[in-house]
Amino acid sequence: MFGVTDAAATLRVAVIGAGPAGIYTADALCSQADVPVQVDIYDRLPAPFGLLRYGVAPDHIKMKNLASTLQRILEHENVRFFGNVNVGSDVTVPELLADYNAIVYTYGSSVDRKLGIPGEDLPGSIAATAFVNWYSGHPDFVEPYSLDATSAVVIGLGNVAIDVARVIVRDAEEMATTDVPDDVLAVLRASTLTDVHIVGRRGPEHAKFTIKELREMGELAGVDVVVDPAEVDHVESDDKDVKRNLDVFKEWAHRPLGGAKRRLHLHFHSRPAEILGTDRVEALRCERPDGSTYDIEAQLVFRSVGYIGTPMPGVPFDETSNVIPNDDHRVVGGCVEVGEYTCGWIGRGATGVIGTNRSDAKAAVTSLLADTDRLLARAVTPGSAQALLEERKVSVVDLTGWNAIDAAEIARGTARANARVKLALWKELLEAAAAQS
Ligand SMILES: Cc1cc2nc3c(=O)[nH]c(=O)nc-3n(C[C@H](O)[C@H](O)[C@H](O)COP(=O)(O)OP(=O)(O)OC[C@H]3O[C@@H](n4cnc5c(N)ncnc54)[C@H](O)[C@@H]3O)c2cc1C
Repeated sequence: MFGVTDAAATLRVAVIGAGPAGIYTADALCSQADVPVQVDIYDRLPAPFGLLRYGVAPDHIKMKNLASTLQRILEHENVRFFGNVNVGSDVTVPELLADYNAIVYTYGSSVDRKLGIPGEDLPGSIAATAFVNWYSGHPDFVEPYSLDATSAVVIGLGNVAIDVARVIVRDAEEMATTDVPDDVLAVLRASTLTDVHIVGRRGPEHAKFTIKELREMGELAGVDVVVDPAEVDHVESDDKDVKRNLDVFKEWAHRPLGGAKRRLHLHFHSRPAEILGTDRVEALRCERPDGSTYDIEAQLVFRSVGYIGTPMPGVPFDETSNVIPNDDHRVVGGCVEVGEYTCGWIGRGATGVIGTNRSDAKAAVTSLLADTDRLLARAVTPGSAQALLEERKVSVVDLTGWNAIDAAEIARGTARANARVKLALWKELLEAAAAQS
């Protein structure tokens, strides 16, 4: 057993990425009593929580409230937050390995998967990743979008496609009570959209929507849902979850239209074949399984066909599955023989809900702790990475700085009769953090 005051026997762990996987990793490390730990969580952004903050839809307020659970983990006495530190450029992986006994990579998957069809790069064709970041107030995505259009297509049959469709189809006044930045709310309020189409290659029995998110679409005020009965009526399944989805589609297919201001259309068995337009998007051409095609007129196309991971300098990367190669969460082919681990989306691929990362993090920490003796045997220089950040004048946002950003957002929320309104600019975030640090 190690003494808590014995600095030499304290396991120093750097976690790269303060999303759910990173913070749950810190929790799993701090929840055990076998070895004393110091956990430093690095994130390139001044704010923690990853996709909980910059992905989970703003109108899913209950899910957003999970942030308070993650915040309590950040406040643990053995955890420190190093925000605004881009690992790979502000500090390198070898530099971190010289300071810490172990690194856990939890830096997520933030890039959109391409469709690979003609017209994908036309103006008006938008990656869902970018659009989600924008409405979530991500400081790298402040360039405003315009919803000055009548018809939009969202490609994809998963929950992210549903999020995007719901955000643009729902009454903007309902979004005023969320944390979207003021500029985003102004764009939603100015929207002229009347029709939003969700389009997918596969049949209704293969849609990856979860039932709660699906049902919500049929309950939006001022929105009629349009489904062709011929696409769903004959489809059956023995799978409980699939059957629940099919029941919803069938009910929608036979629901009379209510003359609502906006319509949400669902199209199955429709492979996006080409985005049509000369200077900008004018329509999406879809191909049916029999090879016939039809066009959906639209001025905007949102592509939501998945997130993929990207490599970090100095860290092995599997270009086929877009993850860090690992064996039971131990990085394969890393810089050191023992000491590098991974979990979350960058370790297993961009699938799973927030809770999935909790069990994933626990499993990664089990592997890490099994290596404790070897990790402690590796010579490290505690504090060397922090000294480099100071020398390089990196404006690290610590927990106090993040708490100041949090307070500034809550203060901004009072003007909109809301709990919080996000700060979306780098300058605003760093100024708010500096005011308190
Ligand atoms: C649009 C969308 C909506 C979703 N909605 C839901 C939902 O409603 N419910 C639900 O349960 N799940 C939802 N999910 C899934 C959930 O968000 C993920 O399971 C979870 O966020 C993955 O956690 P992670 O920690 O692996 O990655 P992330 O959350 O992406 O966190 C990675 C972190 O690493 C940081 N980072 C990246 N590069 C660097 C670097 N070079 N240096 C330092 N830090 C770096 C990032 O800034 C980020 O903070 C949604 C996902 C998306 C994309």
